[in-house]
Amino acid sequence: MLEVRDIETFYGETQALFGTSLRVGEAEVVSLLGANGAGKTTTIRSILGLTPPRRGQIHFDGQDITKHPTHRISAMGIGWVPDDRRVFPTLTVARNLQIGMRKTRFRSWQVSEMFSIFSALEHLMPRECENLSGGEMQMVAISRALLGSPGLVLLDEPSQGLAPKIVQDVLSTVRRLKAEGISVLIVEQNALAALEVSDRAYVMDRGRIVHEGPARALLDDSCRRQRLIGM
Ligand code: ATP
Repeated sequence: MLEVRDIETFYGETQALFGTSLRVGEAEVVSLLGANGAGKTTTIRSILGLTPPRRGQIHFDGQDITKHPTHRISAMGIGWVPDDRRVFPTLTVARNLQIGMRKTRFRSWQVSEMFSIFSALEHLMPRECENLSGGEMQMVAISRALLGSPGLVLLDEPSQGLAPKIVQDVLSTVRRLKAEGISVLIVEQNALAALEVSDRAYVMDRGRIVHEGPARALLDDSCRRQRLIGM
């Protein structure tokens, strides 16, 4: 579904990624872990064309998207849930969701289906997003990404700032996406939570992938986990 091959990404003259490679298969959930500044968000920004790599290739759904502009990449079916959610604060929840609606070759979602995933969402529809809690905003951000009919969803720090109960809701949503055939790449500081719902995991350090393997193996091997991600 997604293949990132040997990418090198820069901010001006500062190199942030040094030959990063990863792949996410169909209906596969993959965690991208690592300390602050390891290059996780830069990898997501590279995939989305927000900070395109200077070298290497990115393929999605059989096409080379390395040089595509962001709007084309989204239109092909890559959904994004940014770490700061980025909902439009002065618009209502309903309007924010409407803005996200798009048809792709992947499964389309109805707003009513979002209500069955997030039961609290329906009564929030008329509310302006600036009045929502962090958890409510996350529901809007995930629903908006799904209404864009993605084949792959990039989740950047989905549990950041959320109460444990809401983190569990987000994790159940990830399982639901997988069951629906959607691929998910999760960038997460809360590594244990991400590993619980992931098939495979990558660990980054200073712009390089330093580990790749089944998520279960990292969950079961606390020594290795401690060495790689410090928890
Ligand atoms: P975090 O969990 O803190 O978001 P991360 O693993 O996502 O960390 P990145 O944000 O991708 O890491 O940062 C990778 C490297 O790129 C870091 O050295 C960081 O300082 C640098 N970097 C990130 N954004 C910029 C920017 N806009 N300009 C210059 N350097 C940047």
